[in-house]
Amino acid sequence: MTVAAEVLAIGDELVHGGMLDTNSKWIAGQLEAIGLAVRRFTVTSDDPGDLRAALAEVCARADVVVATGGLGPTLDDRTRDVVAELRGGPLWFHAPSWDRLRGWLQGRGRPVPDSNRRQAMLPPGAVPLDNPIGTAPGFAVPLGRAELFVLPGVPREMQRMLLEQVVPRLAARPGLEPVAQHWLRVLGPSEAALGERIEPYMAAGRNPAVGITASGGLLTVRLVAAAASREAAHAACLATAAELRPLLGDWLFAEGTEELHELVAARLAAARRTLAVAESCTGGLLAARLVDVAGVSAVFQGGVVAYSDASKQALLGVPADLLHAHGAVSEPVAAAMAAGARQRFHADFAVATTGIAGPEGGSPQKPVGTVCFALARPAGVAAWTVRIPDLGRVFVRDRAVFEVWRALLREPLAD
Ligand code: ATP
Repeated sequence: MTVAAEVLAIGDELVHGGMLDTNSKWIAGQLEAIGLAVRRFTVTSDDPGDLRAALAEVCARADVVVATGGLGPTLDDRTRDVVAELRGGPLWFHAPSWDRLRGWLQGRGRPVPDSNRRQAMLPPGAVPLDNPIGTAPGFAVPLGRAELFVLPGVPREMQRMLLEQVVPRLAARPGLEPVAQHWLRVLGPSEAALGERIEPYMAAGRNPAVGITASGGLLTVRLVAAAASREAAHAACLATAAELRPLLGDWLFAEGTEELHELVAARLAAARRTLAVAESCTGGLLAARLVDVAGVSAVFQGGVVAYSDASKQALLGVPADLLHAHGAVSEPVAAAMAAGARQRFHADFAVATTGIAGPEGGSPQKPVGTVCFALARPAGVAAWTVRIPDLGRVFVRDRAVFEVWRALLREPLAD
C-alpha cells in the first residue's frame, strides 16, 4: 500500500509566466524522502473556478495533498474561501491565530489592519498550522479522500512549516516507502550512447529506477530506490552505482546528490586549497556558482571577468604579443589568464575560460563552440581545448562551466 501524494501550487503569477513554481519541486523532495509516492504537480491560477476544480480534483485522487499560496490578507487570496466552500460550510474565526498574528505584526512595529483578520479564518474542520515567521497561518483539513495541507506561498515560510509541522505528521502514517537517490555525473557521450551502455538498468519497473537527464551537455544518471527504510533505499542505490561504474568508465567524473560546484568547494575545503577564476566566455558564471555555496570564502579568493583583449592584458597580465600571435581563444592565452589570476589572487589554483560562444565569431579553424581552458596550479599550468556543439550561447557557456568543475574534481589537490 503506497501513500499517494500530490502538490498544488496556487497563484496567478505562476500560470502567467511571471514566476517559476519552485515550491512543488522542493515539497516533492521532502515528501518522497519520508516515503510518500508523489504522483502529480498541478499549478492553478487564483481564479475561484479554476481553484475549486483543481482542489476538488487533486483531493479526489490523492491520499495527501500539499497546497501552497493564496493565504494572504487581500481579496485575491482565495484559497481558504474555496476550501470552505468545498467543505460545505462557512469560514470560522480562530482567535488564537489572530492573537498570534497581531502580536507578530505589533512586535515588528507594523500596523494591524483589520483585513489581516481574514488570515485567522479557517474552513470547517480545519486545524491551524502555525506560521512562526510570517502572517499567514496554514491549516490541515480532510477534503475528498485526501488529508489536505495548505501552506503560504512564500518559500521560506512554507519550508519551515512543512518541515516542522507537516512532515512529522505524515511520517507517522502507515504504508510509507522511503526513497533515496544517487546521481552519477557524466560528460562526453551523447544521451543515446549513454543510454545504450546502461540499457538493461533502465528497464521500467526496476528498483532502483535508473534514468538519464541532460542539461547543458552534462548527463546525470539518476538512481531512485524505494525500500522499507531510507538507509536500505540508499544502500540499494549504492549497490547499483557500483555495477554502473565500470560501464561508465572515464565518462563518470562525480557522484552524489550535491551540485557540482558544491562538490568542488567541499573538495577544496577538505584539501585546504584556494581557488581563483579568470573568465572570458563564461562571463562570471563560475564565480556566481561558487558564491552560491555558504562558507565558500574559505576557499574562493575571487575572480575576474576579462572579456576584451585589453582587459585580459590589464587585469590578468596576458602579454599583448600572445594575444596577437594566437588570438584570444587559444591555449597559450587561457594559460596566461589562469597564471595571472593565480598570482594576482594569491590562490593555490586558478582556472581560466576563453571561447567562442557564438553565434558570430567562429572560423574554420576555431568554429563556434571552441573553448580553451587552463588550470594553473603549484606545479605549473595545463591548458586544453574542447569543441562544444554549437547549440547556442547558453549551452556553450553551461557546458564550459561543467568542463571546469570536472577538471577541478579530477585534479589532485593535495601536495
Ligand atoms: P502572503 O500573501 O501572506 O505572502 P500567500 O500564501 O498568499 O502568502 P502568495 O501571495 O501566493 O502567498 O505568494 C507569496 C509569494 O511567494 C509570491 O509572490 C512568490 O514570490 C512566492 N511564491 C508563491 N508560490 C510560489 C511557488 N509555487 N514557487 C515559488 N515561489 C512562490
